[in-house]
Amino acid sequence: MRTSMRTHACGELRESHDGEQVALCGWVAHRRDHGGVTFIDLRDREGVVQVVFHPSEAPDAHAAAQRLGAEDVVRVTGVVRARPAGMINAALPTGAVEVTAAGLEILAEAETPPFQIEDFTEANEMLRLKYRYLDLRRPEMTKRLRLRHDVSRITRDHLDARGFVEVETPILTRSTPEGARDFLVPSRLSNGSFYALPQSPQQLKQLLMVAGQDRYYQIVRCFRDEDLRADRQFEFTQLDIEMSFIQEEDIVELIEPLMVRLLKELRGVDVAAPFPRLTYAEMMERFGSDKPDLRYGMELVDLGGVFAATGFNAFSGVLGSGGRIKALCAPGGGQLSRKELDGLVQDTKGRGAAGLVWMVVEQNELRSPVAKFLSAEELEAIVDHTNAKVGDLILIVADKADRVAVALDGLRRSLAVRLGLIPSDTWAFCWQTDPPLFEWSEEESKWVSVHHLFTAPKDPENLDPATATARGYDLVLNGFELGGGSIRIHQAEVQRRVCEILGLEPAEIDEKFGHLIEALRYGAPPHGGVAFGWDRVVMLLADQEAITEVIAFPKTQSGADPLTGAPAPVSDRQLRDLGIRLSEQPKAP
Ligand code: ASP
Repeated sequence: MRTSMRTHACGELRESHDGEQVALCGWVAHRRDHGGVTFIDLRDREGVVQVVFHPSEAPDAHAAAQRLGAEDVVRVTGVVRARPAGMINAALPTGAVEVTAAGLEILAEAETPPFQIEDFTEANEMLRLKYRYLDLRRPEMTKRLRLRHDVSRITRDHLDARGFVEVETPILTRSTPEGARDFLVPSRLSNGSFYALPQSPQQLKQLLMVAGQDRYYQIVRCFRDEDLRADRQFEFTQLDIEMSFIQEEDIVELIEPLMVRLLKELRGVDVAAPFPRLTYAEMMERFGSDKPDLRYGMELVDLGGVFAATGFNAFSGVLGSGGRIKALCAPGGGQLSRKELDGLVQDTKGRGAAGLVWMVVEQNELRSPVAKFLSAEELEAIVDHTNAKVGDLILIVADKADRVAVALDGLRRSLAVRLGLIPSDTWAFCWQTDPPLFEWSEEESKWVSVHHLFTAPKDPENLDPATATARGYDLVLNGFELGGGSIRIHQAEVQRRVCEILGLEPAEIDEKFGHLIEALRYGAPPHGGVAFGWDRVVMLLADQEAITEVIAFPKTQSGADPLTGAPAPVSDRQLRDLGIRLSEQPKAP
């Protein structure tokens, strides 16, 4: 870290530097005046070191040091001294030494910052983002930026060693469908026409395969105009990968060792590979989710058989209309209060299910508001099927299959937290395989792609939207989807047929995807790929719950950047150049 202004970084000094003359540059983290001596903690990106100013040894420097304020930028010259045994600060990596100052130069004075530059901060998000350059000075933020760099560095190394070439693709491009709204950029040269910012480089990476480039990757910014939330920003980063002449297995063989290496090198954790693989159908049946958290049990149990001939109308009605009755058993959940149980019922209704039946397993009975409507055999069979023990809580949802899944998945996740069932520092990866190719969208009243429309069907002869399976896969970690991909369609006719099933008119297919379909006619290799939500991967490795904690300059929930003031109105002149006239006054974000 030597430069023409310093010999070392502050955080770099250790006992081995004892006696060395050093010059350090950094920010004043704290100043203390003690028995006539002035101490400052000097901070730079690498850490903090204590500097001592003695009035007798360096009177000028000592006098200047007494006037230092927090966040002033200084250059200190002096000598490194090992601290006596009793004075070592074990909490600080530099705690075995201090620097006795001979000279002090003030490089820049700082105004009092709006919040203290310390790991624990009470500053709210707005303030942290408005003064992000101060927020990023906090050691934990500095550490996260470094972690993010390390994740990408290890990944680049892994991919480079396997023959992958990083290729940049344009930001100004044409819409590629990933299911979100596009960000549009008006064209100045062709007024009335727009570029779309890429939701992903999907078509371009496929074209690179047609171009014979064989193994592509890119750590790339993608843009989706969707409502922001804890793990979603307008612009986010993907690790984007595409390979030729492969099958699903090749993706697994590429990615598993990468994940194992990231965990080992960045967290010191050994993760076992191969990761479990579960089909989409199995995930939905056992967990009610296509991204199950496998760190704990509470698998869903089908109670359809138990209630096949039930006299309880609520249940027989659901079975009669083709619905499902499923349950989960929360170990130790019997401790929840009546109020908490009522809260679970409300949550379940909030997730769209008709209701929730709870049963607490007691010594000689099942305590439940519906127990009186069920026969002794049914009650016994419920305990039997769910494998419940005294003190457990059984939760039953009866409704349409998809609502049952959503409700029980939500209950499973929230109870795992509430009952403390999640083991710490556990990294449960799994692959989801064999998803459906299409799903029916109630909202749009048509079939839509589950992944995207370039995904190959398992059987090119079966494109029946109700039954076709896709050659897709997702990687799931601790209940989060880290990423997903698929083997692609590489035959022009199949691509066209899939477009038709999705309800695209021939002219629309030509207009939107003509270039890709044409490329597939010029010799397209079988190919496939995958993309990972890089912010999310770093977030999990950093033990964070929001991706904004691992992005240098994120936006607020309303999509604003309090630091620069974006988005902002533009001048009439700029609008004129773009051929745009506003129909309303600009709105504040
Ligand atoms: N482009 C896809 C996505 O962004 C990933 C892939 O299929 O490779 O989700």
